[in-house]
This record gives sequence, structure tokens and C-alpha cells, in this order.
Amino acid sequence: MARVLKNKKLVNTRLANNYGGWMYCDQCNENIGYLCYSTYDRLELKYQCNCGSQGSVFLDFEDSKMGKNCNDEMIVIKNRFCCSKDKEPLITMLDKKVTSYEMAITCKSCESIYKKNK
Ligand SMILES: [Zn+2]
Ligand SMILES: [Zn+2]
Repeated sequence: MARVLKNKKLVNTRLANNYGGWMYCDQCNENIGYLCYSTYDRLELKYQCNCGSQGSVFLDFEDSKMGKNCNDEMIVIKNRFCCSKDKEPLITMLDKKVTSYEMAITCKSCESIYKKNK
């Protein structure tokens, strides 16, 4: 079922699809990560690509919840950060493509807000 976006703010970044799929740096066209379509409720991401460009992504939906702060780390399954509670796959960051990043991503099913920095 398609979801209705509320905010979609992409800076120096392209998304393969409306609100998910591969994420690309707009300056060098390298993919920097992959966002799973249906399992997140809100994403805030800032990163610096290896090419020097600073990009950011902000996405949420009309029906997004407030979310609950969560101190747990996401678990990694096959390169993908997943919710530690329900194992929902959320996002992949290609560590070798970015010098740093800062993200907050909310799991749709349990509403936990995970924070992660590099
Ligand atoms: Zn780049
Ligand atoms: Zn969850």
C-alpha cells in the first residue's frame, strides 16, 4: 500500500524511488546507502560523501507517529541496520562511501527511534 509523504527534503541526494531504494550522492553519483520502503516511519540523515559533498535526507509520512526514543543499537543483518526488537530491516549505509553520517530512523512497527553516528 502506497503511503502519503508529508515531508520530503533531499539535499545533494537522490532516491531511486519516491521514498525508498538506493540513495545516491548528487555530486558524484555514488550510491551511499539503501532505504527500505515500508518499514521506517521517519528518517533524518545527514552525511558527508567521500567526494566532499554534504547531503541530507528528511522523510516522513502523513500518518507517521511521534516515535519513542530508544537507546538500543540497531542490529546488523547482512549489511542492513535492523530494529533490535522486531528485526525489521530499516536502512543500509555504505560505510566506505561516506566519511561521516548522523541519522535518526523510526521503526514503523514498534515506533522506536534509533540514532546512529559515524
Ligand atoms: Zn559524492
Ligand atoms: Zn521495530
